[in-house]
Amino acid sequence: MKFEEILGQSEIKEKLIQSYMNNRVSHSYLFFGTAGSGKLGLAIAFAQYLSCTNKQENDSCGQCPSCKKYEKLIHPDLHFVFPVITEAGKKKISDAFISEWREMILSDVYVSYNEWMQNLGSQNKQGLISVDESAEIIRKLSLKSFESEYKIMIIWLPEKMHVSCANKLLKILEEPPHNTIFILVSDERESVLPTILSRTQAVKILGIDDDIMEKHIIDKYNLSAQEAKDIVRISNGSYVEAKQQILANEENKFNLKQFIHFMRLTYSRNIAEALTWAEDMAKIGREPQKSFLKYSSILIRENFVYNFNDNNIYYLTKEEEEFARNFARFLNSENVNSIAKIFDDAHYGIERNGAAKIIFTDIAFLVMRVIRK
Ligand SMILES: [Zn+2]
Repeated sequence: MKFEEILGQSEIKEKLIQSYMNNRVSHSYLFFGTAGSGKLGLAIAFAQYLSCTNKQENDSCGQCPSCKKYEKLIHPDLHFVFPVITEAGKKKISDAFISEWREMILSDVYVSYNEWMQNLGSQNKQGLISVDESAEIIRKLSLKSFESEYKIMIIWLPEKMHVSCANKLLKILEEPPHNTIFILVSDERESVLPTILSRTQAVKILGIDDDIMEKHIIDKYNLSAQEAKDIVRISNGSYVEAKQQILANEENKFNLKQFIHFMRLTYSRNIAEALTWAEDMAKIGREPQKSFLKYSSILIRENFVYNFNDNNIYYLTKEEEEFARNFARFLNSENVNSIAKIFDDAHYGIERNGAAKIIFTDIAFLVMRVIRK
């Protein structure tokens, strides 16, 4: 991963490169600051730069044998430690999960702790850097470096480190073997153990500049300038947050489109179309189905409230409001609860693994019965 692949952060990149140029590379860093600002990517890019055998003015070369290995995160002198879960048949150390880790980071280095846990398929389990990890770290760092001048240990989320693991690392953090560099990457500096903090050089990484993020998401996600502005405004410099907002917006658009289509076909009592629609909805997967049903139940209630003409009590996007202008009048105190309940019941059915095609056909017929009342 080259520095140029990390969004913005030009000052910090410059600073890191300068520290190498001036022979002032520290032996243990703590990169901290806003989650989603690119700290992990910066740590990897810095490690790649240090190991590159053909350093360019502002970046690693991307071409030398070392860079080639770094591109796949398989350089023998690059080590990762990150929180892991207890899984049958696996040791509770990072290496047992290294292929999942590489796959995630190579597809997108802007990740949150929650995404990593989801990736591991962890249901409510807590990720941890356990005491077993400390022995691994010490063992790996006692080996001579294989190919590069530096041996680099990146520890992602040291705030998840068990205190007994931390205690065993104090000595090596204080005095690492020759040309060994620790880069700790923390989302919550205040939760990192003080004994660890005091042994690292803190480097604060700020959020990504609004202008840079805006331009990037317009290009990458094909957004309008206004959409991009709205997303950036609520993302606080976090690209992880921005991506989540973009996904939520897309989901919202899809749900609204389906909702409008559904209401038209039920109002016109178009049975053939209702059956086709139910078939299509049966194919989109459980999570999108649940999202649509929840959305519809909320939108029904918001549309009913819209009738009172007080824009302080309903919350609708511009597109939703456009639809509400024509649709809301079909809702009244007689039918609003029964329609919302149809969606709520269907949501419950999907959650219980009910047959989606039957559930979606049912809601079409049930709504047809009450919508004109
Ligand atoms: Zn290189």
